[in-house]
Amino acid sequence: MNKSVENLEEEAPLIGLKNLVYQERKKILNFSLLRKSQKSVIIDSHPKYGKFIKLDDVIVAVDHWNPHADIIYVSHAHMDHIPIFNKKIREGLDNEDIRKWFLCSKITKDIAEERTRNHFTFPESMWLLGKKLDKRNEVEIKGVRLKLTENGHTYGSNSLLLEGSEKILYTSDFITETRTFSNDTILKGLEVVECNRLITECTFGNPRFKFPSFSKIQTDVNNYISSELSKGNPVILLGYAFGKSQYLLNMLDLEKLDTKVLLDRNIAKLTKILESNEIKFNGWEPYSNYNKTQLKKDGNYVLIIPNYSMFREPYKTLISHGAKVASFSGKVFIESFRDKFPSDKYIAYSDHCDYNDLLCFIDRINPKEIYLEHGEIYNFFYSLHKYHEDITIKL
Ligand SMILES: [Zn+2]
Ligand SMILES: [Zn+2]
Repeated sequence: MNKSVENLEEEAPLIGLKNLVYQERKKILNFSLLRKSQKSVIIDSHPKYGKFIKLDDVIVAVDHWNPHADIIYVSHAHMDHIPIFNKKIREGLDNEDIRKWFLCSKITKDIAEERTRNHFTFPESMWLLGKKLDKRNEVEIKGVRLKLTENGHTYGSNSLLLEGSEKILYTSDFITETRTFSNDTILKGLEVVECNRLITECTFGNPRFKFPSFSKIQTDVNNYISSELSKGNPVILLGYAFGKSQYLLNMLDLEKLDTKVLLDRNIAKLTKILESNEIKFNGWEPYSNYNKTQLKKDGNYVLIIPNYSMFREPYKTLISHGAKVASFSGKVFIESFRDKFPSDKYIAYSDHCDYNDLLCFIDRINPKEIYLEHGEIYNFFYSLHKYHEDITIKL
């Protein structure tokens, strides 16, 4: 027999970290009970259908397919955030009776479709919000207002604000800093909005993560490349294929560097999709315009590739022939990361908030309840307790 959701939730009071985590695992979720629940807000995670937010009569699935939800919200097109639809779900989506609404930006949809070979494709008629963010970024469904808001984490990424009987902000991965790139393009960080419940990521929620300002990082990147090129060493930059690689491309001060920029095949493909979405990039060429033999003799190029590709041909030959490798991550403080991607230069650069950014953001919002997800959850849980005794923090 199923217990009611309320009873199960009462069994998991916030009385201590160990206890809370233990109780969370025991929780069983039944969506028909959940719909009938008197609680106006339920924020939880289902073992199969992932995270969801129930506010009043609306259930929003977060970065997951959930047949019981009204709305599927997809924050951005990093692989761990894209819902993958199997054939049965894809066929079912054409059936009007099980209509879902989708919330995501056009860039997220385009990139996710490409990266999943169309295993994230839904009918245009179900696309409720995000097609044109500038024109219609807010919508009301069953009395709950939903708003997508830019958060600077990657191209097309959005946080979600829900307004009904309460105001809830779901940040997903985000930054707060607004970044201006060498080629004058701008990426806007998440702005402070008033809400009483905040669901935030805390990937780098540990005091050891302190990142330099974006302008300092940009200067460091250009100085490093310029000094290596002047010695006749080409430079290979390692970055995640979607987002970070294109940021690196736009950080380059090409007038000063006077060099050519080559992109790995996968990065080039995603960059073209972004260009078709009117994002401007510095001049680049696909790696395929060249070959290994040519480049082995060439001391003047910058090549951007995904991290793991450094161990594969043709890049590993270029590295063994003197190309310098620079890697960019918030994790460069962690020895195991450095061991994993042996590089000549490590630059602390992330598309997530660092510890202070997170504390500062939460301080300015001052919600009554905070839910933590991703990364340094346990460390950040204690940090927050130190500064905000009056806020309830959930894991
Ligand atoms: Zn992400
Ligand atoms: Zn993520």
